[in-house]
Amino acid sequence: MRFPSLNTQILLGAMGGVAAGLALSAAGKNAPVTQHSLYAAGLVGNLFIDLLKMVLIPLVFTSIAVGVANLRAHSQMHRVWVATLGFFALSMSIAIVLGLGAANLFEPGRGMHLEMFREAIQGYEAKQLPLPEFFAQFLHGLFMNPVTALAEGHVLAVVVFGLILGIALVVGGERYRNVLQFLQELLDLSLMLVGWIMRLAPFGIMALLIRLVATQDVTLLATLGKFIMVVLGTTLLHGVVVLPLLLYLVAGVTPLRFFRGSREALVTAFATSSSSATLPVSLRCAEQNLHVKRDIASFVIPLGATVNMDGTALYEAAAALFIANLAGIELSGVQQLVVFFTAMIAAMGAPGIPSAGMVTMVMVLQSVGLPVEAIAILLPIDRLLDAFRTAVNVEDDMIGSMIVQKLVREPAG
Ligand code: ASP
Repeated sequence: MRFPSLNTQILLGAMGGVAAGLALSAAGKNAPVTQHSLYAAGLVGNLFIDLLKMVLIPLVFTSIAVGVANLRAHSQMHRVWVATLGFFALSMSIAIVLGLGAANLFEPGRGMHLEMFREAIQGYEAKQLPLPEFFAQFLHGLFMNPVTALAEGHVLAVVVFGLILGIALVVGGERYRNVLQFLQELLDLSLMLVGWIMRLAPFGIMALLIRLVATQDVTLLATLGKFIMVVLGTTLLHGVVVLPLLLYLVAGVTPLRFFRGSREALVTAFATSSSSATLPVSLRCAEQNLHVKRDIASFVIPLGATVNMDGTALYEAAAALFIANLAGIELSGVQQLVVFFTAMIAAMGAPGIPSAGMVTMVMVLQSVGLPVEAIAILLPIDRLLDAFRTAVNVEDDMIGSMIVQKLVREPAG
């Protein structure tokens, strides 16, 4: 009998994880079997995430520096930048419009009141995050001593340093061939490590999903059912219809081919709720399965993983309108425009870690005077929603790399 492919193993792991999670939640939170299993699942799941994080920083650094440096060879370097940033802005705008549209149409939260959640809100202290302060913080986090950034795992600062070093390698040209070669080899080695780590993915993903499913609070999910349905429905619409359609129209790649090639990364994103931790897997999928050239993938994907977050942008917009409904506040057209822009900034500024979007959402709420404590209502259900939006965040980076590749290669033939 042939051993199933890694892709199939991951799928089996994911299904096993969901089934076991459901079984444990039926057994009850306090049953010894649940507690022991959750402990074991925690160990295995964290081990998998730690391994991905171990390789993340060397991978991001080398990939972006080499990516930018290799764009030099690309006659269309300028077009790569424009196409990449243009795609990020366009796809996030579509996502936010969908989020706002769905929330206006279905009005989740209407008929409910903040009062109903008094207990949840009580004692919750939201950290103030006014826009100017957020902007200052964001700017401050861009440039850092590279050694600190590498050592402490500040992904955004590592990306920025990698970008600048890559540009310096382009400007310096031939003289620095050895440095580039070294970085290139380090990148190859990091990708080799990712290949090894992925062999554990079926177990890691199974463990993470067991925990995700078994620890959901079903009553709470039911209370906020309509909001959850609106967010999940719209996120899925964006991820399953809009983005693949865009890919098909621009690059002629069928959704089936895309999902087949990106499955490992999507399932990993779903299970880890972290675009950063998934980055090694997305890069691997883009290059090996989706045939995106390294110079494009290693530029677009790490950059996208830090700033391009459609799922998060969509969620921030929809959640703001939900909270407005709970608070009985009608947001005018202009206010919704403010939500549009702040949701985009908040999504761009959110790091690729679990529930990061909830933190930056404070800014969106404050921008239109909504009660920030209401976030306390959303926190307990965030793990579930985060899984979906992270998968879409990762998907749009891979789709972006394929679209950019098509846009910049086409004229050259
Ligand atoms: N968890 C998301 C990510 O890593 C960010 C978010 O919380 O929206 O992409």
